[in-house]
Amino acid sequence: MSQYDYVVVGGGTAGSVIASRLTENPDVTVAVIEGGPSDVDRPDVLTLRRWMGLLGGDLDYDYPTTEQPRGNSHIRHSRAKVLGGCSSHNTLIAFKPLPSDWDEWAANGAEGWDAAAMDPYFGKLLNNVVPVDEKDRNAIARDFVDAAQAALGVPRVEGFNKKPFDDGVGFFDLAYHPENNKRSSASVAYLHPVMDQRPNLHILLETWAYRLELEGTRARGVHVRTKDGEEQYIEAAREVLVCAGAVDTPRLLMHSGIGPRKDLEALGIPVVHDLPGVGENLLDHPESVIVWETNGPIPENSAMDSDAGLFVRRDPEHQGPDLMFHFYQIPFTDNPERLGYQRPEHGVSMTPNIPKPKSRGRVYLTSADPEVKPALDFRYFTDEDDYDGRTLVDGIKIAREIAKTEPLANWLKREVAPGPDVNDDEALSEYARKVAHTVYHPAGTCRMGSSTDELAVVAPDLKIRGLDGIRIADASVFPTMPAVNPMIGVLMVGEKCAELLTGSDVR
Ligand SMILES: Cc1cc2nc3c(=O)[nH]c(=O)nc-3n(C[C@H](O)[C@H](O)[C@H](O)COP(=O)(O)OP(=O)(O)OC[C@H]3O[C@@H](n4cnc5c(N)ncnc54)[C@H](O)[C@@H]3O)c2cc1C
Repeated sequence: MSQYDYVVVGGGTAGSVIASRLTENPDVTVAVIEGGPSDVDRPDVLTLRRWMGLLGGDLDYDYPTTEQPRGNSHIRHSRAKVLGGCSSHNTLIAFKPLPSDWDEWAANGAEGWDAAAMDPYFGKLLNNVVPVDEKDRNAIARDFVDAAQAALGVPRVEGFNKKPFDDGVGFFDLAYHPENNKRSSASVAYLHPVMDQRPNLHILLETWAYRLELEGTRARGVHVRTKDGEEQYIEAAREVLVCAGAVDTPRLLMHSGIGPRKDLEALGIPVVHDLPGVGENLLDHPESVIVWETNGPIPENSAMDSDAGLFVRRDPEHQGPDLMFHFYQIPFTDNPERLGYQRPEHGVSMTPNIPKPKSRGRVYLTSADPEVKPALDFRYFTDEDDYDGRTLVDGIKIAREIAKTEPLANWLKREVAPGPDVNDDEALSEYARKVAHTVYHPAGTCRMGSSTDELAVVAPDLKIRGLDGIRIADASVFPTMPAVNPMIGVLMVGEKCAELLTGSDVR
């Protein structure tokens, strides 16, 4: 048996921040249990533009979804199995959540997580967050920005993190090093500079946590299995911090007997703590795609092939944007091909997505065997008023307006998918939902909330309700989805968790 002050389960996006901050104090010992290998000296991981090569590969847990009657049942949810977690896998688009996103959390019971309280944590981040470099700004992406501005009258934004916005188009901020296209992931920014320097930081790689150990209501440690199949028990003298992400955090809790009583009993898992919200409130940013063939090849330069984007606010009463688009400098036809569309040799795509989706899903176990992947039922497009489906239809119509506008129009030869013959709302909706993809943003499955919220899993101090010595810090604690891409929000959760643990104050 080994004992450390803190045991961090998951050396991913939030886990890397917490492990790094805690070990700034040389008297504090930390073990990080990470299911994947190191990312050090791995250009396949560290080179941002190679992100697509990681999808579905050895470093991907690759979770299927359950049947989605109103959506696409074939979506695979990539979750990274490597130090740095999904920040070692993703496109590193870096948005500080909007003030309205944090204020919505506070309004949902996350006291102390309002915009004014959260803003200082952005300034603490160690990641190199910079706008897409001039040399990486592709000519067609520049023309997309100009065309969207002309077609919609939205402002051109240079630096989305400079001030809050409701709409706008421009190149993203990314967490990367433009000079060599190297990631500035959570591991690169928080662990690489210190992991060989700090004897109090122990990173156990390729080691899987399969059960939490509790004594009464107090968490004591974690049972793990190493790469060689050896079982070990790692004890936490102070606290266990669960940072395994929006899929694996509820999975680990449920295998430890923490979760909805009825579901656990049905699988024969002894109930340690009945917590009905574990696995509920599964959120995502679903997106659709519209693809064009271009008149010829597109220039090669790019940071990661989706460097610019657009935010629209259709409803002037809405807090923040209610429709978002990534512009891909590639024909992103993986899902349309299943419906019979063909991938053009040269092309581009716009992917309308729903910043504030209304459908809610659930992660649940189908077996008591911790090796069996959990089921992910996003219940895509099941909200009562079909707000989610209608948002994608609006998105396709807006995308077409932009495509008709110069200087983008001149690049485009024809619309490949859904194609000019698909026009009425019903047909557009059917297409949009059947080719719907994910922006890989699952969140919310152990949501934070007030003491009167029966489905809240953690309190605003991130402690699991009803238990001691255990907190959760990762995308699973999000009460609601930010309108923007969530990674910076996850890093800020990590910083805030570290502050809660060390008692330091950022203000
Ligand atoms: C392909 C892709 C593209 C994306 N693009 C963007 C983007 O451009 N911008 C953005 O803002 N967001 C993006 N996201 C989302 C963003 O990366 C995630 O929301 C965020 O990184 C999640 O952080 P986390 O700490 O919750 O989990 P993770 O970073 O996934 O960390 C979880 C860690 O825990 C480990 N782990 C899990 N279970 C166990 C266990 N039982 N035992 C031991 N270790 C375990 C995993 O190996 C992993 O390292 C993208 C995600 C993906 C997959």
